[in-house]
Amino acid sequence: MNISFVDLKAQYLSIKPEMDAAIFKVLDNTSFIGGEPVASFEKHFAELYGVKHCISVANGTDAIYITLKMLGIGTGDEVITVANSWISTSETITQVGAKPVFVDVDEYFTIDVNIIERSITKNTKAIIPVHLYGQSCDMGAILALADKYNLHVIEDCAQSHFSEFEGKRAGTMGIAGTFSFFPGKNLGAYGDAGAIITNDDELAKKCKMYANHGALKKHEHQIEGINSRLDALQAAILSVKLPNIISWTNSRIKNAHYYMEKLQDISDIELPLIRNNTLHSFHLFVIKVKKRQRLIEFLTENGIATAIHYPTPLPFMDAYTYLGYKEIDFPLVKSNQPEILSLPMFPELTDLQIDYIAAKIKEFYAIGW
Ligand SMILES: *Cc1c(COP(=O)(O)O)cnc(C)c1O
Repeated sequence: MNISFVDLKAQYLSIKPEMDAAIFKVLDNTSFIGGEPVASFEKHFAELYGVKHCISVANGTDAIYITLKMLGIGTGDEVITVANSWISTSETITQVGAKPVFVDVDEYFTIDVNIIERSITKNTKAIIPVHLYGQSCDMGAILALADKYNLHVIEDCAQSHFSEFEGKRAGTMGIAGTFSFFPGKNLGAYGDAGAIITNDDELAKKCKMYANHGALKKHEHQIEGINSRLDALQAAILSVKLPNIISWTNSRIKNAHYYMEKLQDISDIELPLIRNNTLHSFHLFVIKVKKRQRLIEFLTENGIATAIHYPTPLPFMDAYTYLGYKEIDFPLVKSNQPEILSLPMFPELTDLQIDYIAAKIKEFYAIGW
């Protein structure tokens, strides 16, 4: 059996007639930037989230950058975020001229709220919690700290489409939620795409303007901005997928539970912990394993693709040596680093495929490598 890490082809085939029609409609209209497909996607995405504004942008990285910039965060400011994430989360803090301040993770692989408070200085302006792998951070504690110290909370929802914390959707609790629609994300375009959601009218207006050369109307540039737009083709593609997203999320959750059932009695692995009162959307299914490198090789030989999210925590990357962090500053991230392993996860993954993966993992540890 051959099992890829994500199977975008399976999903395309499941919606091919509608998808092809939507794409050809855009080609037929030859209106490629802005217009009805973009407005329609923004409207429906905002409606699904129950928020006032959705501002589509070119990718999930720009979504964070534009939000930080339009909140006025810049030189001399500090922004607190988590040590284990994709580099977009911290790269954008630097892009606006501010300094990223990294915090260790908790046992749920998300930012440890107990460490946030001692990382706050007089220069701290914002916290970027990352709902990593699809699991919501402890937003109750984060919002309380933000309130106490008057900080903005920008939720990085690139991996957490339709995740929830205490019945509230990830992305709706901070001043803004930022999304990536990179093809492999839970809601994926067929190229780069992203969005910002917010209930703040002023922030929404600024972000929309900044993403489009500082203009809300053509040729009326109130400020200088950037070119970061969702194109009509990607918007049309996302709109075809949007009605399926809840059912795809439910399939991911079902697959995760089936994995946990099948893997529960293997003592050499640790299953993901799910935070109470949350809905984990399982962008990734990440376990902790012993003898990781040999397990990866064994699974590869047996046709099973795996991945590591992420091999090097952000503060340990060359890009951040200038910040002067030490490995002992992040004990949990450090101990997770050699053990985390992401197994194949996508809505179309079948029980038979999970049976096979679980059987191979069992076989590996039974052999006693
Ligand atoms: C994918 C991702 C991003 C960036 O999204 P792009 O659309 O690739 O720019 C940001 N943060 C996290 C946590 C991500 O996984």
